[in-house]
Amino acid sequence: MKERKLKHVPSVENRIVIKQCPLCAARWLDDQFYWATGKVGCPHDLAGLLCNDNGDERCINPCKGSTSGQTWEQRRNYLNGESNV
Ligand SMILES: [Zn+2]
Repeated sequence: MKERKLKHVPSVENRIVIKQCPLCAARWLDDQFYWATGKVGCPHDLAGLLCNDNGDERCINPCKGSTSGQTWEQRRNYLNGESNV
């Protein structure tokens, strides 16, 4: 009774690679970045807001160290500007 058919062969094509940063809980589904809230985002913003300050070698953000995204300073200026209207 050795003859068994392999039925559930996993298909490699449909696999989505999900990565999660242990520090900021941000996620990458394949190459698309999502905030911890589930919103699509820009990893450069994440780098400026979180990873550059709090990230260490555990951070998986490929854009860590990037300053092209949003920073707290920019965000503060933006908020101040809005509240002063
Ligand atoms: Zn991170």
